[in-house]
Amino acid sequence: MVKELEGSGIRIIWEKALKIKDAIRMDIGDPDFPPPTKIIHELKKAIDEGYTHYAPSSGLAEAKEAIARKLKYQNGIYVEPEKEVVVTPGASGALFAALVATVKPGDGVLIPNPGWPLYTQMVKLAGGTPYYYRLEENNDYQIDFESLEKHKDVRLIIVNSPHNPTGGVLNQQTLTQLKDIANEKDLTVISDEAYEAIIFEGKHISIGSWSEMRDRTISIFSFSKTFSIPGLRLGYAVAPPEVAEAISKVVLYTSTCANSITQRAIVNTIIEEHNEVKEMLDEYRLRRDIVFELLTEAGIRCVKPKGTFYLFPSYGGIIKIDSSEFALRLLEESKVSVVPGSSFGSEGEYHVRLSCTASSEKIVEGVNRIIKFINRLGGM
Ligand code: PMP
Repeated sequence: MVKELEGSGIRIIWEKALKIKDAIRMDIGDPDFPPPTKIIHELKKAIDEGYTHYAPSSGLAEAKEAIARKLKYQNGIYVEPEKEVVVTPGASGALFAALVATVKPGDGVLIPNPGWPLYTQMVKLAGGTPYYYRLEENNDYQIDFESLEKHKDVRLIIVNSPHNPTGGVLNQQTLTQLKDIANEKDLTVISDEAYEAIIFEGKHISIGSWSEMRDRTISIFSFSKTFSIPGLRLGYAVAPPEVAEAISKVVLYTSTCANSITQRAIVNTIIEEHNEVKEMLDEYRLRRDIVFELLTEAGIRCVKPKGTFYLFPSYGGIIKIDSSEFALRLLEESKVSVVPGSSFGSEGEYHVRLSCTASSEKIVEGVNRIIKFINRLGGM
């Protein structure tokens, strides 16, 4: 089983880029901002106060209560913290535990294509069978419901909004259609909302807040991108009590609990409006606008992202080399690292993912090099 797992295309390019000293890094999705000052303060305080011990496997009671307040005010999800929230090592820990807790051997799990590569490998590890549905590039990366209906023996569907790698945000109409299908076919929805805080247009909708979806949704959240603390490994799953209990058991048997220091540090900071988070959002928006304009002016097709810090342009209209070769040559010849679109599934071919997690000066230089590279290969 584990032998069948594929390596991550993101990590492959990341490791190569690390060895090139002056490469412009637009590969991995690791925010280039420090955490808000208040969080650093609370982290230090938590160490001083002795939060260096094990926590209950579902999380510290005060962390779950704080999360429940945030869910109520920011997501419109009303939960009993002790029964429906499980604090996990990142959203990755929440996703994996949710899949292991719910997938029975051979169960079909629908995954977005393009989509975050870890979904496929996690579904396989959980003993499920990954199936794919398309996101429509020509329709702002909304779900192609026809491709979804093709698969019959499916029990779960993973949705991700705001979406990695396209920056797409699922709209009310798409989510309503999803709700109807999930109810008709008795599907569990795993809603990965790791990028909920990075949204530029429209409002983030948590499908788990809808009464008809409550019993069939597992909502997944993360602090990694919201507070720029990916290395502090904190996320959470929100699920109906029985499922939450099963998720908590998987956490117990895989990692015992999430980081106690980080859990304590979010208690007084999760709801607060941090200036740094607002500034970060403004800066991500600015970077998105700059990159989008540069690409569009150069005739490179790209859907304007509504969220996240990624852009997912396609060079396929100009040159036809596969995206792994594209990314490797771009790194070697122009010293810019990007992630090959094919790492995110077949629908990602002839695309690359650009992560706007470097300064705007670096990003402008990086994108100009990408444009030159494409034009050189395309003979323009
Ligand atoms: N979901 C998506 C779509 C992601 O891109 C990531 C991280 N890149 C995660 C979940 C996991 O985030 P973390 O484990 O750091 O909370």
